[in-house]
Amino acid sequence: MTRIFDDPADFAEEALDGLVAANRGYIARVDGGVVRSTEVPAGQVAVVVGGGSGHYPAFAGVVGPGLAAGAVCGNIFTSPSAGQAYRVAKAADTGGGVLFSYGNYAGDVIHFGEAQQRLNAEGIETRTILVTDDIASAPLDEIGKRRGIAGDLVVFKIAGAAAEAGLDLDAVEELAIRANYRTRSLGVAFDGCTLPGAAEPLFHVPAGQMSLGLGIHGEPGISDHPLPTASELAQLLVSRLLADRPDGAGTRVVALLNGLGRVKYEELFLLFGKIEKLLTAAGLTIVEPECGELVTSLDMSGLSLTLLWLDEELESYWAAPADTPGFRKGSMAPRARRELAVPEDALAAEVEDTTAAATELGRLAAALLAQAQDVVVDNVEELGRLDAFAGDGDHGTGMRRGVEAATAAARNASAAGASVELVLTTAGQAWSERAGGTSGALWGSALVAAGRSLGTKDSYRGGDAAAVVTSFVDAITTLGKAVPGDKTMVDALLPFRDAFLAAFDGGAPVAGAVASGAAAAQAAADATASLRPLKGRARPLAEKSLGHPDPGAVSFALIAGRIAEYLDVGFPPADSRLAASAAGDGAHA
Ligand code: ADP
Ligand code: MG
Repeated sequence: MTRIFDDPADFAEEALDGLVAANRGYIARVDGGVVRSTEVPAGQVAVVVGGGSGHYPAFAGVVGPGLAAGAVCGNIFTSPSAGQAYRVAKAADTGGGVLFSYGNYAGDVIHFGEAQQRLNAEGIETRTILVTDDIASAPLDEIGKRRGIAGDLVVFKIAGAAAEAGLDLDAVEELAIRANYRTRSLGVAFDGCTLPGAAEPLFHVPAGQMSLGLGIHGEPGISDHPLPTASELAQLLVSRLLADRPDGAGTRVVALLNGLGRVKYEELFLLFGKIEKLLTAAGLTIVEPECGELVTSLDMSGLSLTLLWLDEELESYWAAPADTPGFRKGSMAPRARRELAVPEDALAAEVEDTTAAATELGRLAAALLAQAQDVVVDNVEELGRLDAFAGDGDHGTGMRRGVEAATAAARNASAAGASVELVLTTAGQAWSERAGGTSGALWGSALVAAGRSLGTKDSYRGGDAAAVVTSFVDAITTLGKAVPGDKTMVDALLPFRDAFLAAFDGGAPVAGAVASGAAAAQAAADATASLRPLKGRARPLAEKSLGHPDPGAVSFALIAGRIAEYLDVGFPPADSRLAASAAGDGAHA
């Protein structure tokens, strides 16, 4: 139960503000999360961690010398946006590049992935290490599908210590990969956690039972067991983890017993004592263990055991000092405070940089987004209904938040005279920022890619429209990695692209090609009803989705249809050069 808040919707944000107020010697607030408030040597690799909130001390509480350089903080149990990750990483970078590290969850992967692309495009070299320590979440031969739980802290610690030692990005990345591979965890829950504002926990574990392998957000466990004695619990955790030991494991391990929020320290210590005996009896040497709350799950009643199988190098980085609000080890000399640069208003700086043709096309882009907004708003409920069969029912509201933010951003940029490149990139950023969710990240990055593909040129031809369609589609398949048949928006997107290009290459004007694409997308979206979802949130409930079309495919087809209508009927050809080809200039450049 959470009692202390004014408005539960502001819980994560206000808790973060207070954490910073209580720890100004360590961390400073930036838009999207926190960074260190103390001096960082120029050129040091910035280990930037993050994820949803509700896991203190993860993630903002492990920012400081010897550990993370910044933390990206989403809402409770919700992935932060790409924009947040981008801004925190930018504020944390001191010229040595960025290593993103976070637990392996789809929303985080997409948003951080998008931020990584943006940072790399700007010349800030960025890599990613996903933490995959939870042995209950997938079998060993699918280790890449495992999710991250308390092993987060272990991987962050090794990477942070390596960065502190002055290693370069390649070396820090290599150590983080190795640490992740050699880190294995298993958790149990006795009862669920309650979101701020909710009266009931997200789930209950039946009285007298314990759920083995339950995720830190209430993802289902692998099996329920009668509540064991402490000795039996220690035996269960240790034996399962030893059975999953990595190749080349050795005999020296870090053991980390993590409380999830509502297990007393005395209970954790009692259990740790038994775990230590079992590990020792198995011939292992325990090195600098941890026992306490390190990655929590609000007030979840549960715990997890993590083993890091050391080698000499990992041991030296594990033992190195760290000094953060929520995790301290050894001792470190106090650091001077640093001045944080206030980010400039990028829009104002860039609006200058345009051409008449690019500004004109920017107006068209803003008008098309307004059309997309209209059709989404008209269909919010239907899209939500489709998403509720197997997903989480938020596709309508998510699309609406995204497209409204994108349209407003595009309208502002266009009114200020911005190029189509700037109109679409700011719109895409606004979409992904406001919408969150998988579809928000995908639409956002697709618009950014479309803007980049158009660039800021002296004139535009029909061929630019074909390039936009291709970049839009490529951005989504690159980021989401879905293939045809996975039952995602890609199942409507690829038919759109193919029909568009076929019509266009056959000499059709842009508007005609869009109409062909839209018709193909509509038919393909309808046809997704017979598929089972293989990607995204709907995957675990695949059967329930049979007979209903994919919400993301449907929303894409709706938008494509509306834009086709607009280009055909409502669009005055004199508005832009692209329009000239839309109106029948079949001679493509
Ligand atoms: P979330 O799944 O995060 O709640 P939404 O409900 O807004 O996000 O969007 C769900 C839609 O996202 C799905 O119907 C599907 O079309 C699309 N989607 C999910 N995963 C992927 C992916 N990997 N690639 C492309 N589209 C995807
Ligand atoms: Mg959804």
